[in-house]
Amino acid sequence: MTNGPSNRLTDLNTLVSLAKRRGFVFQSSEIYGGLSSCWDYGPLGSQMKFNVKMAWWKAMTRRPDVVGLDAAILMAPMVWKASGHVDGFSDPLVDCKECKHRFRADNTESYLKSRQCPNCGSKNLSEPRQFNLMFKTHMGPVEDQGSIVYLRPETAQGIFVNFINCQTSTRHKIPFGIAQIGKSFRNEITPGNFIFRTREFEQMEMQYFVKPGTDEKAFEDWKETRMNFYKRFGLRLENLRFQPHGPGELAHYAKAAVDVQYNFPIGWSELEGIHNRSDFDLSQHMKFSGKSLEYFDEVNKEKFVPFVIETAVGCDRLFLAFLCDAYREENLADEKGGEDVRVVLGLHPEIAPLKAAVLPLSKKDELIGTAEKIRLRLAEGVGGEAATGDFDVTYDESASIGKRYRRQDEIGTPFCVTVDFQTAADQKVTVRHRDTMKQDRVAIDQLNSFILQGLRNFT
Ligand code: ATP
Repeated sequence: MTNGPSNRLTDLNTLVSLAKRRGFVFQSSEIYGGLSSCWDYGPLGSQMKFNVKMAWWKAMTRRPDVVGLDAAILMAPMVWKASGHVDGFSDPLVDCKECKHRFRADNTESYLKSRQCPNCGSKNLSEPRQFNLMFKTHMGPVEDQGSIVYLRPETAQGIFVNFINCQTSTRHKIPFGIAQIGKSFRNEITPGNFIFRTREFEQMEMQYFVKPGTDEKAFEDWKETRMNFYKRFGLRLENLRFQPHGPGELAHYAKAAVDVQYNFPIGWSELEGIHNRSDFDLSQHMKFSGKSLEYFDEVNKEKFVPFVIETAVGCDRLFLAFLCDAYREENLADEKGGEDVRVVLGLHPEIAPLKAAVLPLSKKDELIGTAEKIRLRLAEGVGGEAATGDFDVTYDESASIGKRYRRQDEIGTPFCVTVDFQTAADQKVTVRHRDTMKQDRVAIDQLNSFILQGLRNFT
């Protein structure tokens, strides 16, 4: 078993192999030997990742005070001068002269303690030198200094430079926020731990613009809001905590910062950063662009540069947290002591890639025909009425019913719908629940609303 005490996953490799075997995550360019730290989301993974993004997007943009944005990855190079990334977005890189291992000096315990190579233990090391993490490319046909553009290392700057566009087009008054989901790129020195730290990743960031003086309260409010989000989607409380940044650890732009940490199998690590960025970014962009990004408060007839509270979470990292938190192995061995381990992904139904699987008990034509009709009812909803629900649903007719249940347990499908020999007579199916394995007999014409209710009642 790879569960530690309190059913906590202790070994990331268990997930890496499940993710590959069941089509959640594959190594990028695998047939060419893979590309380091890049991953592809497979049939189930892409659906689940979409669900993660939708959960976050809805939590943000269904508030009356947050609007959405989808800015370009490539931005004017001056943006990154203004933000401080060209000059300061770097990590200290150390080379081991013996084994040629390269590592990030600020992140490697053995180096910090004894200035030894974490790979071979040698003390024959280079001095740390600053390595800029931004990926560069060229825009247009000429590859010279003047055509350099950067792949954005964070999505936030797309929001700052669009602050006035969003504010004037929506006529929002401060305080209000702008939310964005998108790819970011960092040439990390030491990526790894599966999708925890990669060089291409997706961020879900929200910048909340407030009047200076109200920023500390907004910071506290967002801490609570974000923690509630994780609770709502079922992450276990004992695996979550806040970790404030001390004065010496604050980023150049930050007045205050706290990490939401998750207890990954690799230990407590940052899941989300919540930052009080003060008026740093807007002021910098005013300085570098020469354009005003001030807000005019019509009630008090005053102008000011807003302060910004930022919430920034990696979509891939949250995806990993959901998988780690959901994974469990149940020992269902009988008295005779036979080994029987049930692997379950107890994902929240909104996050689970599939909501239901339709399983005919046998491959007889009549069962298969009915099962396909039921699959369609579930996939498309009934009579176009949204109230009856439509779901991401799959169909499986191969292997014994027990095996098929287990296949669905392992990918987190909350409901299995079995069509059996009674179905034609009573127009009912058996609905089996992932977590309790309890079974209910449900009329086919009630099935969509039964599943919808079941998903809504999930706690
Ligand atoms: P770290 O200290 O882990 O490098 P950071 O403090 O630089 O992260 P932020 O710039 O605050 O991270 O980014 C916000 C969020 O984006 C992080 O909390 C994390 O979830 C995600 N993130 C950052 N870098 C990566 C990466 N290389 N791979 C995957 N996700 C990342």
